[in-house]
Amino acid sequence: MPYQHIMTAVDLTDECHPVICRAIDLAKHFQAQLSLVHVVEPMAMAFGGDVPMDLSTLQQQQLDQARERVAAFAGQYPELQPERQHILFGQPRQEIHQLALEKKCDLIVVGSHGRHGLALLLGSTANDLLHGAPCDVLAVRLKKTE
Ligand code: AMP
Repeated sequence: MPYQHIMTAVDLTDECHPVICRAIDLAKHFQAQLSLVHVVEPMAMAFGGDVPMDLSTLQQQQLDQARERVAAFAGQYPELQPERQHILFGQPRQEIHQLALEKKCDLIVVGSHGRHGLALLLGSTANDLLHGAPCDVLAVRLKKTE
């Protein structure tokens, strides 16, 4: 079965370009729909969920900034239509899996640093996304980290 809806997950670093390019190539090859997702992680998560202050304004600013950054980033690729650019708020694995289910995606394309040693123990988003994924996951190899 050819892929019908490919979702590329981006963290909006320059390293995402090869990930997006691979997703675009695959979408062209399979004549599939192409979507993009970026997940903004709540600040409370970064602080271990224990922050004694109201973060809602900061979080709204985070989301607004992410919207601008996604528009600038995706604007470089005419294949990425604005209505298929998704900005979500939460934990990347959970949000991306949920969106892939909702949009009936059959392939998620992410970047992978091919970590080893200590960095491997800290885990990676690609690894995290693989577990419990509702569809295939392609990890595009990025520059190696120690
Ligand atoms: P990492 O393991 O965090 O270095 O990320 C590896 C890959 O996971 C990136 O190249 C992206 O494809 C994806 N990724 C990481 N963080 C996010 C995020 N917040 N939203 C969407 N995709 C992400």
